[in-house]
Amino acid sequence: KTFKDFKIKKELRNALSDLGFEKPTPIQAVAYTSILSGRDFVGIAQTGTGKTLAYLLPVLQDLKFSDQQSPRVLVLVPTRELVIQIVKEIEKLTPYLSIRVAGVYGGTNIKTQKQAVHQGLDIIVGTPRRLYDLALSNVLRLNSIKKLVIDEVDIMLDFGYKTQLRNIFEYLPSKRQNLLFSATMTTYVDELIDNFTVHPIKKTM
Ligand code: AMP
Repeated sequence: KTFKDFKIKKELRNALSDLGFEKPTPIQAVAYTSILSGRDFVGIAQTGTGKTLAYLLPVLQDLKFSDQQSPRVLVLVPTRELVIQIVKEIEKLTPYLSIRVAGVYGGTNIKTQKQAVHQGLDIIVGTPRRLYDLALSNVLRLNSIKKLVIDEVDIMLDFGYKTQLRNIFEYLPSKRQNLLFSATMTTYVDELIDNFTVHPIKKTM
């Protein structure tokens, strides 16, 4: 199968074609239809399997143009490097779409990140602590989040981010779609999945 066999809007299809991506990887093929069905999704997949695009494609396919200020998609990842990488990936996929995206992480000036949030966003990508700080200070409103992605869940838990995640969840609407990705399945990952997803579709790659 190629990307042409999937119902993908032309702006995204053209971006994929510019990038030279023709065929979805196995995780991308299963995740696309599963995520667009609206169900929660858990993917156990290593880096290098194309897992980032596996959630970005259906998320972008589903995201409609809006000029509202509060973001509708929240992507949580354990490190600043990953935030930067995912923001870049989103930018590469959206040259033909008007999508506003920003990455937030610690160790840098919070002021510029606050400005980005103030200007309005569709997607926010961040590390848990900085994201929680922005939500706590009321700069960032999370009440419009429709989709929550947590990438590298196992590393998040290794880094001791469990409490931060719980704190962030308090700010999210209870009706939302949860998309969780982890390289490994551990008891702790399983517990988080049990607590924060509803009848997810689970796929191991
Ligand atoms: P990831 O596993 O998400 O870290 O992705 C690994 C690398 O594969 C990234 O550099 C992607 O840009 C690239 N990639 C992802 N999906 C595809 C695809 N369908 N065809 C070709 N390259 C891809």
